[in-house]
Amino acid sequence: MSMFDYDTRPATPLPILVGTRATPGAYAIRDFLSRNGYAFEWVDVGQPEAVRAVLGVAEVESSALPLCILPDGSRLASATVEQVAAGLGMVAAPALSEYDLTIIGAGPAGLAAAVNAASEGLRTVVVEAVAPGGQAGTTSMIENYLGFPTGISGSELATRAVVQARRFGAELLLARPLAAVSADGPGYVAELSDGTLIRGRAMLFASGVEWRRLDVPGIDDLLGAGVYYGAGPSEALSCTGSRVVVVGGGNSAGQAVVRFSRYARQVTLLVRGRDLGASMSQYLIDHLSTIPNVDVRVRTEVVGLQADDRLRAVIVRSGDRTGTAPLPSDALFICIGGTPLADGAAGIGLVTNSAGYLLTGGDFASGPGGNWPLRREPLPLETNRPGVFAAGDVRCGSVKRCSAAIGEGSMAVALVHRRLSELGGD
Ligand SMILES: Cc1cc2nc3c(=O)[nH]c(=O)nc-3n(C[C@H](O)[C@H](O)[C@H](O)COP(=O)(O)OP(=O)(O)OC[C@H]3O[C@@H](n4cnc5c(N)ncnc54)[C@H](O)[C@@H]3O)c2cc1C
Repeated sequence: MSMFDYDTRPATPLPILVGTRATPGAYAIRDFLSRNGYAFEWVDVGQPEAVRAVLGVAEVESSALPLCILPDGSRLASATVEQVAAGLGMVAAPALSEYDLTIIGAGPAGLAAAVNAASEGLRTVVVEAVAPGGQAGTTSMIENYLGFPTGISGSELATRAVVQARRFGAELLLARPLAAVSADGPGYVAELSDGTLIRGRAMLFASGVEWRRLDVPGIDDLLGAGVYYGAGPSEALSCTGSRVVVVGGGNSAGQAVVRFSRYARQVTLLVRGRDLGASMSQYLIDHLSTIPNVDVRVRTEVVGLQADDRLRAVIVRSGDRTGTAPLPSDALFICIGGTPLADGAAGIGLVTNSAGYLLTGGDFASGPGGNWPLRREPLPLETNRPGVFAAGDVRCGSVKRCSAAIGEGSMAVALVHRRLSELGGD
């Protein structure tokens, strides 16, 4: 028997996801699995032979899509992220009845807090709606993080941080967002979307931001069918040979363009401002100018979309022209910044600025609802509720960089210690 006769299939089969690129919900599952480093097989229903190979029939009812075949052979029709996560054993119950610190979000800020808190003996739990790494986890290369002179990918940074946090004993609960928060004596109870309750003596919002929406008619109907918010690494390969449009003038848009240019036939970056220098790092601007299949168009905005069952063209208006022109496109990635994710904050009356960013360190004092109940001053990252802190992009005044988020997450733990010693028992 030659070495080539061995069956090289993996001992444990991979989950298989069946759908079309236009199937609502399929993108969310692909993004969830790939960002959690979970290998899977994607079968497009447009390829009947591939469908027959996994299902035994060449056609699937569109109402059953996305269809997920789990490694044990069971099938989830119209699958959701939560069902797939549970089916793959990625959903765990909290191990303890009470924690010293409940962290919402496993982006750079939350993971830094988890590593520091757990290493300092705090009973620590992190709740993450999607995947560790947050926005940074979608970045192919972070080049400005201290100690990595040639850069580090966001997913590698996140994977390393998760291993580190777990080694110190922090728990990570995946695939369920925080739904509500309520007061529980001097502590707080976090309720997750599946009803799981987590009791914590202190709490840290490290829930970051979500991409801002583009206001173009019909865009929501095309989400997942050629239109995407953000530009996850999972999508780069699937853009092989395609015409890709990226909207946005920041570093995230620039990095997405670099990533897509390795696979796509043509990548066009649309920027509303007059030049990129105001919002993008110079090293990225320089890099973009050297890539032959990248076209950067400033003073250009998206005013419409052409589509049948999926995106076919982006209608753009450039400069002072009143006329518009179609730009044939297979995929449109929107990277125009974000809005803060502070779900649950309203339940305990956390004060935000008008854009929804959490106010900390006494900045809330002059606003409505900003009454501070203790005799001491609020601590620097403390919200208007004693023992509830905010760090990273979700915090008003934060710098929107990995190193800043990591710094704030680490600093928050020192402040949590001060709060816990106030309560006694730290
Ligand atoms: C594509 C891209 C490229 C970037 N490149 C760089 C770079 O090169 N250098 C740099 O310094 N910065 C870069 N940034 C910015 C940097 O990634 C962010 O500043 C940083 O990730 C912020 O960290 P954070 O932990 O505050 O929030 P996030 O990274 O936003 O993480 C928040 C986490 O909280 C989770 N969450 C939200 N709501 C809930 C909820 N209700 N329940 C549970 N979990 C929840 C989210 O799923 C997410 O995982 C980039 C950002 C993007 C998007």
